[in-house]
Amino acid sequence: MESLKRRIIEEGRVLSDNVLSVNTFLNHGVDPALIAEMGRAFAERFREYGVTRVLTIESSGIAIAYATALELGVPFVYARRRKALMNEGEFYAERVPSFTKGIVTDIVIAKELLKPSDNILFIDDFIANGDAARGAIKIVERSGAKLVGAGIAIEKAFQAGGSHLRELGIPVLSLARLASLEGGAIRFAD
Ligand code: 5GP
Repeated sequence: MESLKRRIIEEGRVLSDNVLSVNTFLNHGVDPALIAEMGRAFAERFREYGVTRVLTIESSGIAIAYATALELGVPFVYARRRKALMNEGEFYAERVPSFTKGIVTDIVIAKELLKPSDNILFIDDFIANGDAARGAIKIVERSGAKLVGAGIAIEKAFQAGGSHLRELGIPVLSLARLASLEGGAIRFAD
């Protein structure tokens, strides 16, 4: 998506060889027009897949999941990061290492929000090692629902997450693919 690549070039800040900050339009400040365009791109790619529900993880995936779900005319659900006192029986939970925070958190989804008949489209802002996606996929599997695709705004193609999903046979659309952030320079993969 050219407009996303342009914003990454103009406003992205390379924090290290592995981390890109896009705080002005995606992760802190949010540009609704850009997010709406992402939603249209994901909806167009996955419209024929019979998606019944979009799934993301709080918090940065929420705006994109909203835009995508609105375009597809389906609901979306976001996995929450577990706080204390959640009743075990009513939630699916998976332990997920957080790439940017360097900690491990449990992501949880209420069982009533995932049905065995659901066709799920997973959406997230970034994919790095793929831990967040793997956690979400495990929950989808346990619910009996089917994962039909994954839509990622920014894939860091020099990390293994995106390739891992493709190897599992999951159709993946990444709107921008980064080849490298080395030396503070942003290089795209395509
Ligand atoms: P993974 O689980 O694939 O290793 O990391 C994906 C998650 O970590 C995403 O949900 C995203 O929130 C965060 N993340 C990973 N890499 C980056 C990055 O370079 N920049 C930002 N802002 N977030 C990232």
